Amino acid sequence: MRYAAVLIGIVLAIPTLLAGCAPNPVSGENQLSLMSEYDEVAAGQQADQEVMAQNTAYRDASLQAYVSRIGQMIAAQSDRRNLPYRFTVLDDPAVNAFALPGGYIYVTTGLMAYLNSEAELAGVLGHEIGHVCARHNVSQASWGAVGDIATKVLGEKLGNPELISTLTELTLRKYGRDQELQADGLGAEYLARAGYDPAYMVNVIATLQAYEQFTGGASDPYRDLYSTHPSNDMRLQQLIAQARQYGPGSRDPGHDAYLHRLEGLRMPLGNGQTVQMHLITARPGESFETLAQSSRLRNNAAMHLRLLNGLFPNGEPRPGQLLKTIQ
Ligand SMILES: [Zn+2]
Repeated sequence: MRYAAVLIGIVLAIPTLLAGCAPNPVSGENQLSLMSEYDEVAAGQQADQEVMAQNTAYRDASLQAYVSRIGQMIAAQSDRRNLPYRFTVLDDPAVNAFALPGGYIYVTTGLMAYLNSEAELAGVLGHEIGHVCARHNVSQASWGAVGDIATKVLGEKLGNPELISTLTELTLRKYGRDQELQADGLGAEYLARAGYDPAYMVNVIATLQAYEQFTGGASDPYRDLYSTHPSNDMRLQQLIAQARQYGPGSRDPGHDAYLHRLEGLRMPLGNGQTVQMHLITARPGESFETLAQSSRLRNNAAMHLRLLNGLFPNGEPRPGQLLKTIQ
């Protein structure tokens, strides 16, 4: 993911100078790595300070605790259960999630607004946990080029905006397509191990693609990873089928439970105004066009409401359905 746009999985990390061969926790193969696990966690801790110097945690302790609970539940099913995972909701309208080495994972309120179940949130967090478990951010290939400069920057005082922007520029890396595919596969596996239907991973990808389509976002490798209709994508279907061996997928996806957590979610519009998410129950005959009339969304409001409710591009509410609106 690009840092300020629709992407899952940018990593900001700080390499240390230790080099060695370590077995990859996911594949079991030896991998030339820059960091021991201890150093990886220390690097994550330091990079977390940088992230939190540039971002604000969403001020809602109960929402933070909720996301942590879902995250820890998925992390407990992962290939690196011993890591000290930390989950933070960032107060940021950009649709984004990313991970640091050592298990520091972030999801923005912007992304949370577009998800529609606990299973989908678990899928997003599972994808990021997948990057951490496969050590996508700590291999020599990722870090060789930036090691020197990042180490120099780290030697300086934290808090100097110039240095931070250099560090961010140099260390925000996009994962390759293979790594994104692997993270989706691991995310699906962890979903299944936790009892969810791994197909919720497809919902997440479809939601991100719909968002890009709605906003006309720039081309991005993650978005282009799958065909335009992810539910028909063969590779994705293969990942989901493989994940199904880990569990029956009968757990309640937590649609309404998740939506209730979003009641009152504050979302800046980018023009100085802040709107709030509000939940309603659809009445018979209600359409997204009628709901759009009372919404504070300006451009293409009916379509935006469909997108928020996972019904893009042509769904309509069922009577009695719990719906997100913006007022
Ligand atoms: Zn990713």
